[in-house]
Parts: sequence; C-alpha cells; structure tokens
Amino acid sequence: MQYKTILKRYKIPIIIIMCLIFNIIIILNYAVNFKNKKTEFKEIKPLINYSKKLEMPTVKNIKIKNINPSVISDKTIYLTFDDGPSYLTEKILDILKEENIPATFFVTSRGIDTYSNVIKRMQEENHTIALHTSTHNYSYIYSSDENYFKDLEEIRNKVYNITGVKSRIIRLPGGSSNTVSKKYSKGIITRITNRLTENDFYYFDWNIDSLDASGSVSKEVIYNSVTQNIHSGTNVVLMHDSSTKETTVLALKDIIKYAKDNGYTFAKITKKTPQIHHHINN
Ligand SMILES: [Zn+2]
Repeated sequence: MQYKTILKRYKIPIIIIMCLIFNIIIILNYAVNFKNKKTEFKEIKPLINYSKKLEMPTVKNIKIKNINPSVISDKTIYLTFDDGPSYLTEKILDILKEENIPATFFVTSRGIDTYSNVIKRMQEENHTIALHTSTHNYSYIYSSDENYFKDLEEIRNKVYNITGVKSRIIRLPGGSSNTVSKKYSKGIITRITNRLTENDFYYFDWNIDSLDASGSVSKEVIYNSVTQNIHSGTNVVLMHDSSTKETTVLALKDIIKYAKDNGYTFAKITKKTPQIHHHINN
C-alpha cells in the first residue's frame, strides 16, 4: 500500500527522472560508438604506400646556391655591371640573390685580387662573368691593337685562374661608340671589333643607360633613367659596381621591383643573347 501511494504521489517526477536516465544512456551509447568509429577511421590503411612511392627532395638534391636560370621573354632585362669587382659588388650579389635574378659583370683587374672570392661567388650563383679589359686605361688600350688584345688576354687569364672558364663575352671601355680612342689611334675601334667578331668573341654595348657613370648621381636619377626607358624586347642596362657607386646599389632593388611589377623578366648575357651594338665612330 505504501509503495503504491509513493508511486501515485511522485508519478510525474519519477517519469521525468526515468526519461533523463534513458536520454543519458542514449547519449553515452552514441559517444562510445563515435569514439570507436574514429578509431576505425584512423586505422584504415591507404591503398598505396605513398611513403615508398614518393621521394621527398632532400636539401642535398636542391642546388640552393644557384639562382634560377635565365628566363628570356619578350620583355627581358639584362642588368650589366662594369668596372668591378669592389666592396659594393657583394651588396649587389646579395640583392640579386634575394630577388633570384641573374646578371652580367664586366670585370677589370682593379679589384680582382682583393675580391677573387666575389668572382667565385658570381660563378656559384650563376651570373655571367664577362671581360672589360684589365687596366681600363684608355690611353694604353686604345693606343694600339696589340695593347688592347694584350690587356684583354690579361683579364681573361685572371678570370680563368679563379673560375676555370675562359670568357668570350666582352665590353669595350667607353662602349664601341666611344670617340676618346680617336686621340690614341685612328680607326682602332673598327679594327678591334672586326677582329673580336672574326675570333668568336661577343661584344656587348647597351641600350639603356642608368647614367651612373657620371660622378655623383642620385638613386632617383638612376631609377628614373632605367624605369622610364625599358621597353618590350631586349634591354641591356648599363650600370657600375666600382667602389664609388653606392647610389647604384641603393636604386637597384626598386628598379627590380618596378620591372617585376611590370612583367619584365631578367636574364644574363650569353653567346646567344641578341648583341646590342652602338654605331662605331672610330
Ligand atoms: Zn668601364
């Protein structure tokens, strides 16, 4: 009797408690099932053993030292640096590495012994090391054909001793259009360029002048001279990396950024590069 009275009195709370217990059981059951399913999923083995099929590249396999090979497009820029190496050349190499672009260096003997490690770095980082004569002394090199070729051979051998490569890519001091040479020997540029071509040397002038050759030029002038004149086709840009050309280094990063933003690609000069030649005046 007492039992029945309790049941009657607490009918509703008992039903609620029973429902709650039932719900808890269902939830617990679902949770356990879910956990088991997750474990099952984890244990499913892939059909193909990818770890065996795919060989991930190791650092050893990647040539981390080398900058990307030249990319030739319809808007190509060949950055060229004359008169180095100097202490500034490394700063230029740092920027080129950061931007992952190749360039061409027309070197002389002035800094070559001090900066032979820089020449090695140029080679390791896949730039073109080209020749600009050993002494760069106009009165000597342009006074006779013999002097010019003797001087050229001197820098050629010095670069060879460092790199093991005998370069055939040349730039004449003052460019092939220079008239200074008239003072020392009439017709010498015509004779030199003919002989270079006949002997499979490739000489390059430029069609974009950064104007950094003149004494002190601001980085803004250098930036504008290059960015306002580059165009579709081949752009051979004249710059300098001798020790006084700090503003060239300062302008370089912005020039590269402008060019990249405007769809230009960068390449280094090779024998296959279209040769930009000035009009010969002597
Ligand atoms: Zn020069």
